[in-house]
Amino acid sequence: MTTVIRYAEWSIGADRSENAPPPIRQVECVNCGERSETCTSQLGPDSWALRHAGLSGHGAYREIVTAYLRVTPAPGNPLYPQAEPFPTRPSYIPRPAPTRHSRRPA
Ligand SMILES: [Zn+2]
Repeated sequence: MTTVIRYAEWSIGADRSENAPPPIRQVECVNCGERSETCTSQLGPDSWALRHAGLSGHGAYREIVTAYLRVTPAPGNPLYPQAEPFPTRPSYIPRPAPTRHSRRPA
């Protein structure tokens, strides 16, 4: 019996390919567990937290970010020159929920 163990360099980082989906953000109130809608911009979840704080007095939040990563062959890996682009949107990646932004008058 022969065992071959092959070592190759790979790298991982933010997926910056043309078709990569943007990060999806959401804010959760640490006090009551309520959450903002998911959004691909920072403005929506932040605005929700500001409104929620104003209405509830809750001041502690955590941000939940789903960011897409890409693993590619690193220099020295025999597959390095053959790196393929990230698929447009694999079926396992849900589409972000539509967001609604509203502002209070100043
Ligand atoms: Zn709350």
